[in-house]
Amino acid sequence: MQTIQLLILIIFILAIFYMVKFLGGKKKVTVTDPVPLQLKSILQEQVPFYQQLNKNKKTEFEERAAHFLTQVKITGVKTVVEDLDKVLVAASAIIPIFNFPGWQYPNLNEVLLYPDSFDHEFEQQGEDRNILGMVGSGALNHVMILSQFELRQAFLNETGKNNTAIHEFVHLVDKTDGEIDGIPESLLHKQYIKPWLQLMQEKIKEIIDDQSDINPYGATNEAEFFAVVSEYFFERPELLKDKHPELYELLLKIFHPAPASS
Ligand SMILES: [Zn+2]
Repeated sequence: MQTIQLLILIIFILAIFYMVKFLGGKKKVTVTDPVPLQLKSILQEQVPFYQQLNKNKKTEFEERAAHFLTQVKITGVKTVVEDLDKVLVAASAIIPIFNFPGWQYPNLNEVLLYPDSFDHEFEQQGEDRNILGMVGSGALNHVMILSQFELRQAFLNETGKNNTAIHEFVHLVDKTDGEIDGIPESLLHKQYIKPWLQLMQEKIKEIIDDQSDINPYGATNEAEFFAVVSEYFFERPELLKDKHPELYELLLKIFHPAPASS
């Protein structure tokens, strides 16, 4: 009898042990792709936007970039995704929305990295234009495609006004109100929408008339204009302020909203 009781007790203890282990395991967040250990040092070396933040803001940036990487999968297509790429994608995602606490990208699940530009595999305006980045639609909804080369290049080039990854994330921000139309209604206070539309028209005309230093691709339509000048705003803020003060002021209102007054 005593042996049987002992056996039952042992089984009982083992059962509890496994239950605790199992439940304990369930509590942990399963991260298939771990956040790069080098996140902080890569940001410090490669991302000027991060470099100019104060200590607290840097910590916030690191946390939000790390969180982004637990939410969005980064997949290499015919290329190997390195930690550097993951951190640069996350940084490009956080930069445009850094002044919006808690902002996440509900419309994005995955970023596909291609080694360089891509064209024929994705229909894009039916031309031979080399595509460096795009926000997917249709079957590729919730997917963003970026050129790995361009992603790295944009952060290496300190005097450029272009950054394809930031450009694509700005399209996603623009898309959160339902349409990619150059009017980020979720960020821009209603009173500024009319002035913003007017200014876009003026500035697009300057590009068409060859009177502008803004990337001519911005004259494609208002959505592209918004994405192109946002790149300029985040890459060369001082130059933009100098050359296009009105544009700079309105972009400041979009991306650095004044704290809500009660
Ligand atoms: Zn675009």
